[in-house]
Amino acid sequence: MPGGQPRTIPKRWFFLWAAVVVPGAAVLTLLVLLNQLAMWPAIFGGTLGAVALFFVVRTYLADFDTVIAYIGDLARDKKPQAPEPRAHSAADEILSAVRTLNRTHDRRTSELETLAEANVTILDSIPDPLLLLNRVRQIRQANRAARGLVTANPIGQDLASVIRDPALLEEVDIALETRSDREALFTLPYPRLQHFLVRITPLAKVTADGTALIVSLHDLTAMKQLEQTRVDFIANVSHELRTPLATLVGFIETLQGPAKDDAKARAHFLEIMDSQTKRMVRLVEDLLSLSRIELSEHLPPADTVPIDAVLKTVRDMLSLEAKSHGITIALDLPEDLPEVPGSRDELTQLFQNLIDNAIKYGGTDTTIRIEARRAERSGVVGLPGPALSVRVQDEGEGIAPEHLARLTERFYRIDRARSRELGGTGLGLAIVKHIVNRHRGRLTIESALGRGSTFTVFLPLEAGPAS
Ligand code: ADP
Repeated sequence: MPGGQPRTIPKRWFFLWAAVVVPGAAVLTLLVLLNQLAMWPAIFGGTLGAVALFFVVRTYLADFDTVIAYIGDLARDKKPQAPEPRAHSAADEILSAVRTLNRTHDRRTSELETLAEANVTILDSIPDPLLLLNRVRQIRQANRAARGLVTANPIGQDLASVIRDPALLEEVDIALETRSDREALFTLPYPRLQHFLVRITPLAKVTADGTALIVSLHDLTAMKQLEQTRVDFIANVSHELRTPLATLVGFIETLQGPAKDDAKARAHFLEIMDSQTKRMVRLVEDLLSLSRIELSEHLPPADTVPIDAVLKTVRDMLSLEAKSHGITIALDLPEDLPEVPGSRDELTQLFQNLIDNAIKYGGTDTTIRIEARRAERSGVVGLPGPALSVRVQDEGEGIAPEHLARLTERFYRIDRARSRELGGTGLGLAIVKHIVNRHRGRLTIESALGRGSTFTVFLPLEAGPAS
């Protein structure tokens, strides 16, 4: 027995015994009084019956209070120690049934706990923020993404205090009232602008913990940005093509009409038409290059390239152009430059774009210095191994710091008119960036107004993995 209490017959069982014995004694007394039974046999038989009944009650009904107390403690989740009633008593049988029931209950509880833990892990592994609400819009649970998005601990708070968007809250209220799925768009302005499609799904039945509705937020920011990039890109390409096309159409009309027989005007117009056509061709070629490089960007090139030969070729290709601006191209290449894993055509295009820009924006009568070095450690973030660096340094007007981060965006120019005048397409540095990416390299740009610019390309000497 728990607590080592002595085995007693509790009062309740004594009254039960008495409730049978007293009427029995009364019947026997009546029979004796009516001379239906002799006194002594009645006393003897009655006593014997009462004693026998006492033992029956003791054997089968004793310990019931202890067992009832034990069941009560179990029901109150107190984890009591099981009592040990007399063997073969009714209490013993009940206790054994209760123990079996309790073991099943313990197993179920442990299964439920495991399930609850798994549910938390599953919810946390979902990348979309999820909030589980009760019938009065209070947050019952929030997965990791949601905790990171709204507030570190939103549990117990009204949804309105963590998401202050009247339209979204109204949809949640409608969903709770009508028990129908709803959707809403939601924009989070802080800490960074994010757009979400919010799905509001009421549960068929409110769960034991009070969850009545799931609010899931699907992030549309990247998709919106991509869409915006696409729209901007099409607008830019159209704009870039429209201007030379309009010029061509105008001159064709003039040549067919008023300037039909004017040889001098014809020669002049044809010259302009030629330069506009070449500009369109350059734009189309740059667009094709960009799309080709982007398509193969996930696969690093398989060949190896002697970078000194590439740089000499580019220098030779652009030397006439440089000379026309009074620019000298100075190459500084050590004897033992290693070959780099790469694509010769792409690396040629990369350095051609950088040196061409240095000529265009480097000012007249200056020097462009090109210097290649091998380094055991590149010293730039994300490129820990040995690398080859190529610096292209000009003495031009330089670039203001606010433009540096955006220079490699397609069609980004500091001075659009100037770039056009110099024959630029606005795609040169975007192509450079994608070629560097495909080679798993890095590009750094250092510049200050009035102090020239330095573009440095770091190319890993060990072939990088596909991505
Ligand atoms: P673009 O065809 O206009 O030259 P790029 O993508 O090659 O296009 O360059 C983008 C812009 O970056 C240029 O319009 C120019 O404003 C700026 N830029 C590029 N290289 C230099 C440089 N060496 N010095 C100064 N500005 C430069």
